Amino acid sequence: MSHARDLAAHLRYLTDLGVDGLSADPSWRVRASASAAPETAQAPEATATAAVPEAREAPTGIIRLTEIRDDLGDCRRCKLHTGRTNIVFGVGNPDARLMFVGEGPGADEDEQGEPFVGRAGQLLTQIVKAMGLAREDVYIANVVKCRPPGNRNPEPDEIEACSPFLQAQIASIRPTVIVALGKFAAQTLLQTETPISRLRGQFHDLGGVAVMPTFHPSYLLRNPAAKRDVWEDMKLVMQRLSIAD
Ligand code: URA
Repeated sequence: MSHARDLAAHLRYLTDLGVDGLSADPSWRVRASASAAPETAQAPEATATAAVPEAREAPTGIIRLTEIRDDLGDCRRCKLHTGRTNIVFGVGNPDARLMFVGEGPGADEDEQGEPFVGRAGQLLTQIVKAMGLAREDVYIANVVKCRPPGNRNPEPDEIEACSPFLQAQIASIRPTVIVALGKFAAQTLLQTETPISRLRGQFHDLGGVAVMPTFHPSYLLRNPAAKRDVWEDMKLVMQRLSIAD
């Protein structure tokens, strides 16, 4: 596709989302250097709180993603390992200010070893672009790292086995905002059974990280009208990250 057609398609998508303005300000891309960063993360103005992930309290300091991946190894901690092709660990900027967390890999992700590369993933990429970002700017991970058979929901023992790795990823990246994609990600991160329709639209505190639950891109594929709600949520995220007016 030519650049012009690519741009036209992207603009049509933005209109579809209900985007009413764009910021060309690249300042958000610069993450404060370690020396300039405050020692303690500023607690967001949260309307709800959840347990602090233990890994964030770990006294070991910098926990690097490669070490976490090494620790995960050829994981057989739960039954999902029997059906997987690849472990889908996560992808993106290890210093991202914005992290997306989904539920678990689907068939395409299992095949390619990368999260959100199927149809739902393409929609997520569009949303990220609509925010003025690229996939490489953010970090994308899932609650479970192996594909649940037939795309069934992850089971509690699988979530329990895999959650420490997600928590360690969060502790390593120290994002300012996490967007929890869909019910499973939101309920797992926030340790709640509140429905996603009630969780979305406001920030929740996760140990100093602002969590914005929103609808899962797969849901948006089935319910395109909900894209506008997601865009409202993303506008709040952009404001929090100072990438919107
Ligand atoms: N759905 C998810 O929750 N995660 C993926 O990586 C892909 C689809």
